[in-house]
Amino acid sequence: MKTVFELPAVTLPIRGSDARFPVGRVFCVGRNYAEHAKEMGADPSREAPFFFSKPASAVWVPEGEVPYPSRTADLHHEAELVVALHRGGLSLTPAAARECVYAYGVGIDFTRRDLQAEAKKLGRPWDTAKGFDASGPVSELVTVEDRGWLDKGAISLTLNGAPRQRGDLSDMIWKVDEIIAELSTYYTLQAGDIIFTGTPAGVGAVERGDVVQASIDGVGRLEFTLV
Ligand code: MN
Repeated sequence: MKTVFELPAVTLPIRGSDARFPVGRVFCVGRNYAEHAKEMGADPSREAPFFFSKPASAVWVPEGEVPYPSRTADLHHEAELVVALHRGGLSLTPAAARECVYAYGVGIDFTRRDLQAEAKKLGRPWDTAKGFDASGPVSELVTVEDRGWLDKGAISLTLNGAPRQRGDLSDMIWKVDEIIAELSTYYTLQAGDIIFTGTPAGVGAVERGDVVQASIDGVGRLEFTLV
């Protein structure tokens, strides 16, 4: 089909492959680790995790650098496991949801915390707090075929070499298959969808010049400088 112009494709590299993963939609889970829910002032025993999204254009392959965004004085890091889907469906069972996962990555759900706090206070949407350009850096993906199903493994983030976030995938309130099953009751999931699965405790502010390193055992590492 002829179009009046072409949109840039958003793609992620895959370890051990020449092919790249084409990103369609980007979904995110809020408050999926109890200790993080508490640090944000919520009670995880009474409030379930929830979903929000970013545009595909928010995905960023760092190659060493991530641009510090406009309109914030309080940019926060949130290190997260990212899962990439190669099939989808509506109202999936957790078993069917597992079959949808193609690969894993390490991602940062960057958040303009000042704009998010204002949005919460005023009951407004989170889009400008969460869905801005380069708000979703993601590492090279590793396939489920290579790594198997991941339900545990340390997830951590250091800032200029100092530990900031530390958790384990086993601490997720909704596990990966439950996230996908739940999300598929809201949306018909499809190949190309990626999901940021929530962040452990220890989120905090970053500044221009800071070096961010995030890693997940069995998945990989993401490292860049904010510029
Ligand atoms: Mn997050």
